[in-house]
Amino acid sequence: MTTFDLIVIGGGPGGYNAAALAAESGLKTALFEKNKVGGVCLNEGCIPTKALLHSANLLDEIREAKKYGITLEGAPAADYAKVAARKSKIVRKLVLGVVQKLKKAGVEIIEAQASIAAKNSDGTFLVKAGGEEYSARDILLCTGSETAVPPIPGLAESGYWTSREALEAKELPESVVVIGGGVIGMEFVSVWTSFGVPVTVVEMLPKILGRMDSELSLELMKEYEKRGVKFYLGTKVVAASPAGITVETPEGEQKEIKAARILLSAGRRVVSRDLGLAALGVEMNRGAIVTDEYQQTSVPHLYAAGDVTARSMLAHSAIRMGEVAVHRILGREDDPMRYDAIPGVIYTHPEFASVGATEDDLKAAGTPYRLRKIQMAFSGRFVVENEGGNGLFKLLTDTDDRVIGAQMLGNPASELIFYIGQAITQRLTIEDLRKQVYPHPTVGEIIHEAVNEPAL
Ligand SMILES: Cc1cc2nc3c(=O)[nH]c(=O)nc-3n(C[C@H](O)[C@H](O)[C@H](O)COP(=O)(O)OP(=O)(O)OC[C@H]3O[C@@H](n4cnc5c(N)ncnc54)[C@H](O)[C@@H]3O)c2cc1C
Repeated sequence: MTTFDLIVIGGGPGGYNAAALAAESGLKTALFEKNKVGGVCLNEGCIPTKALLHSANLLDEIREAKKYGITLEGAPAADYAKVAARKSKIVRKLVLGVVQKLKKAGVEIIEAQASIAAKNSDGTFLVKAGGEEYSARDILLCTGSETAVPPIPGLAESGYWTSREALEAKELPESVVVIGGGVIGMEFVSVWTSFGVPVTVVEMLPKILGRMDSELSLELMKEYEKRGVKFYLGTKVVAASPAGITVETPEGEQKEIKAARILLSAGRRVVSRDLGLAALGVEMNRGAIVTDEYQQTSVPHLYAAGDVTARSMLAHSAIRMGEVAVHRILGREDDPMRYDAIPGVIYTHPEFASVGATEDDLKAAGTPYRLRKIQMAFSGRFVVENEGGNGLFKLLTDTDDRVIGAQMLGNPASELIFYIGQAITQRLTIEDLRKQVYPHPTVGEIIHEAVNEPAL
């Protein structure tokens, strides 16, 4: 039996970063991965979607070039097979980079499905994988999540796609109905709309994008409506077939929506079965592994990070949680996880980013707050780069004017939101943001402009 200090199960961003950090810090570390190193994020999530979105956005920009005084002969044409091939090449390159990083750090990569078989008499864990036995003093579970499949009659026979099949496709679908207007669904809507695919979105909730700010979610939805996307909100899917879906509208009416493809993007569910957790008595919450702020589970020396905890299903959250767990295992520093300043981005066109509290959350909780709200067009750079474009920035503070949240609709929201995250983490006030010098001209100056607005 091979013995390690730390066994990491799951080679997604949570697992591979934690394994590299642990090995670099001197722990004899093994990483078990049953499918592909890089996990969902690298192979079938964050990276491939952004590669497709980049090509889609470029196509939009070329189409809009005349707004900026550039005339092009004829309409631009897209070769989707090449777009898809470029995406796959990027994924291969980045996965290779991760494998090299792990090897350089001294991590032993074991390509097998692992489960915890028992606790050994010396207190270590016995792990079984690929017919072999391993042991370790500490275990970090980073087994991630997968597409949730709701029990819709006919769905299994409908030939539906999840994000995985949608990303694997080398050709564009003729038309798509998207079940679930969340982050993943909306990013595919963005890709397909740019490439001219007719798209319909069916969302069970009364708004798209789940818990993202409702005002900006509505603005984004209107953008896509202008581009021809049809949205059905508060609408339940009652049946599916190869020809499309049947929905029940809020008025109780049944309606057929025809489409060549169904994209199922109605949420993700954690992967925690077959890990041997029940026998260990690990505390779970609807399948998710419960941890404290150090990523420690209810069983000593057993940690969990990333999607499998269902606390924040984002790659950067997984990375940070994994780092927190390794720091705890090393016992070197007091480094708890904070959930109040995790940015979330939807890489639509325009981008929509959020961090910390939203107005909706604060109103629902009855928490008093101050709001500064400003059009993105107050940034000169935004006007220069977004001809005719709208956008909105909302900055939320508590009644002492400490920053507690922000939402931005407009490019490049993804690149700016972490600054507000830092302000929340460091408990900065409006006065602190005012005193900061912002480079000019940048879209980031919108933060300074917002600070100078009277609070609502
Ligand atoms: C289409 C899509 C787009 C996304 N875009 C973004 C984005 O832009 N930004 C963002 O932050 N997040 C995005 N996400 C979410 C992001 O991918 C996840 O939050 C992230 O991958 C979670 O990392 P993780 O390490 O927890 O798990 P995962 O990446 O899910 O990795 C878990 C790994 O564990 C392995 N595994 C599971 N069980 C076992 C076992 N028993 N033994 C061995 N191996 C096992 C799996 O094979 C998998 O490789 C996206 C997700 C999807 C689906």
